[in-house]
Amino acid sequence: MSLYDLETERVIREIKRLKVDVVGLQFPEGLKTRAVELAEIIESETDATALISADPCFGACDVSDRKMKGMADLIIHYGHTPFPIDYEVPVIFIEARSGVDVRGVLEDAARLLDGHERVGLATTAQHLHLLDEAASFLEERGFEVVKGSGVNTAEGQVLGCNFSAIRNTDADAYLFIGSGNFHPLGIKLLTGRDVVVADPYHGEVRRLDEFADRVLRIRFARINRASSASRWGIIVSSKEGQRRFKLALEVKRKLEAAGRDAFIFLLENVSPEALLPFREIEAFVVTACPRIAIDDSQIYDRPLLNPSELEIALGEREWEDYVLDEIIS
Ligand code: SF4
Repeated sequence: MSLYDLETERVIREIKRLKVDVVGLQFPEGLKTRAVELAEIIESETDATALISADPCFGACDVSDRKMKGMADLIIHYGHTPFPIDYEVPVIFIEARSGVDVRGVLEDAARLLDGHERVGLATTAQHLHLLDEAASFLEERGFEVVKGSGVNTAEGQVLGCNFSAIRNTDADAYLFIGSGNFHPLGIKLLTGRDVVVADPYHGEVRRLDEFADRVLRIRFARINRASSASRWGIIVSSKEGQRRFKLALEVKRKLEAAGRDAFIFLLENVSPEALLPFREIEAFVVTACPRIAIDDSQIYDRPLLNPSELEIALGEREWEDYVLDEIIS
């Protein structure tokens, strides 16, 4: 049995109901291995032809609607919840709820949270259905549990660029249910509070402090190095949900007012190779996905900063006032 519920019966029902000729299928990296199997089922159970998006996809900021327009009548997008975007082809979002059992890691998580009274819960689309169970578990052990409401996200849901669900929770500590450091790092950077990760896939529970400290030290070094750069690049994404051109123009004006040269670069996928030809540029500001500068910084030969980090580099913001860049709306 699969770990994720891909709601195949519902998908088939909708394809038949809408009399779809071509259905676009888009998956996050972790689910791409299921693509061919799903296409096979869909093509045998319906009259539709499947069109699989093979490009990388990391969020609903990057639905293939514009690329598939004129080819697909409907897109099934797996693993994410909708962005506030007018998609150009109808899209059905399948959260891909995980069937993993969370109880095993909650016991250890409660031990690490000991000493805190008010605990904020956070997770990703795949585990939203586990939050009630986690809340009851912690409440039975005397914790006050809070699940915040997000802007364009569900209760307790965080994206790598949208932590609005925890912003006003004012918890003493946060429990993130899921795997990896990507989302809990954002919670740590935003709140500065204790963040405990309960990873039901690896049966592992850990604090994030050491990892977050390491990331902040790297950010400090990058900002420091960039501060003396005289020629800057500003990266704008052509992905609909990441496109912040107005912000890029503001950044350009800010840099020019500070006596620096600044040029805007339009990119779909930001990568070290794509930036390689622009050797004169000493540092970049990323207005695309806010996580590129933070999570991928090690692979770039020049500093990549977020717009708020640029303010620190230009002396307009104190390091102590470090803020996380987000795309909320
Ligand atoms: S902008 Fe980045 S963090 Fe936000 S949904 Fe897209 S890939 Fe994820």
